[in-house]
Amino acid sequence: MKNAMRLKWPLYSSWVCIVCLLSLGQRAYGQAKKYQRTIIVMIDGFGEDYYRASDMPNLNQLEKSGIYKVVPSLMPAVTNVNNIAIATGELPAQNGITGNVYLNPATEKEEYIEDPKLILTPTIFERAKKLGIKSALFSCKKKTIDLMGGSAAVTLCPECDGAAASPWAQQFGPPPGVYSKEASYWIFKSAIAALKADPDLGLVYIHTTDYPMHTWAPEEADAKDFLHQLDAYIGELRQAAPDAAILLTADHGLHHKSLCWDVEKACRQRNAPIKIAISPEKDRYFKHHRGMGGSAYVYLNKPADAGAVRKTLLALPGVEAVLTRAAAARKYGLLPERIGDLMVLGDQNTVFGNLESAESEKLAAHYRSHGSQYEAHVPLFVYNAHHAPAPAYFKANYLLAAWLYK
Ligand SMILES: [Zn+2]
Repeated sequence: MKNAMRLKWPLYSSWVCIVCLLSLGQRAYGQAKKYQRTIIVMIDGFGEDYYRASDMPNLNQLEKSGIYKVVPSLMPAVTNVNNIAIATGELPAQNGITGNVYLNPATEKEEYIEDPKLILTPTIFERAKKLGIKSALFSCKKKTIDLMGGSAAVTLCPECDGAAASPWAQQFGPPPGVYSKEASYWIFKSAIAALKADPDLGLVYIHTTDYPMHTWAPEEADAKDFLHQLDAYIGELRQAAPDAAILLTADHGLHHKSLCWDVEKACRQRNAPIKIAISPEKDRYFKHHRGMGGSAYVYLNKPADAGAVRKTLLALPGVEAVLTRAAAARKYGLLPERIGDLMVLGDQNTVFGNLESAESEKLAAHYRSHGSQYEAHVPLFVYNAHHAPAPAYFKANYLLAAWLYK
């Protein structure tokens, strides 16, 4: 008898566990069921000029039947600042992300922003998880997965560990290099397959790469071909999840830039030396933009240098404005502790970055970049979202999904 009990008990207890797990799962899913399935698409570098120049019939339909606006994006007009603001629904002053790099006060060194601890407010993946909603993040860039992907149940990027052996690679071939159009196609195809295969997936976030826009202007055939193909995948997304809301925007546009200033060298040669100048655009994807962008953070050796440095910078051709830390934080919603003593802003043709020997350089005719206020406006689409606020709510790109799961 005792032996029989012993045999039965583990069986009984495992059944109890299965039943309890099932009911827990049902409760979590039941809770999640209240929320409409949502697809967020962040097309990196998708300025309105690219949209208008390309044949994108599916997006045209989204535009006609949903909310469509051209809205301001956030400054500096670089990927991290905008992607994290979209994913948190907060300005950099709250979420803490002011660039792709920052000057770490502890080490006094320029460091890439890749540590998720640097994000000071919850991401949409954390908010979804708390409500029992299963989420996925598909990005072309590993830095996006490292920073934002912590609470997503599924993550994928071409450079992520295990990507080459993933079921997606088995289905769609080995992950393409990041400097290709195909990296974005691979990410889209994987996201569509995941949506089809897993009905419990309540939130899918897709982030493409702006490599094509760094390489081709809106009117060039390759740019048009790339965007026409992305549009076909947006059509497939709608078919794969006809019930889903589609929220789509971009981080910044792009322009040709003709001049680069090395701010450190220029200041030194004019007897107004600074501690360091940081281009918030600088990231590990050097081929995109050589680390040069249309705005820069300037750190002074001492506060008394501010006047002379400001005057020196304003005298450089292509420099449009120099803001104090307080003025920049106020104007652009930035976190004062993570920007320079001064913020320098270029005109549409000018970028800032480290140059090997000269203080300035004329850039090649095909060079394209972003980071200035001239790239800080993007299209925004809200389609089939049952609980979205009125169009007036969407005053900037970072509000795209700020209302969701709150
Ligand atoms: Zn970008």
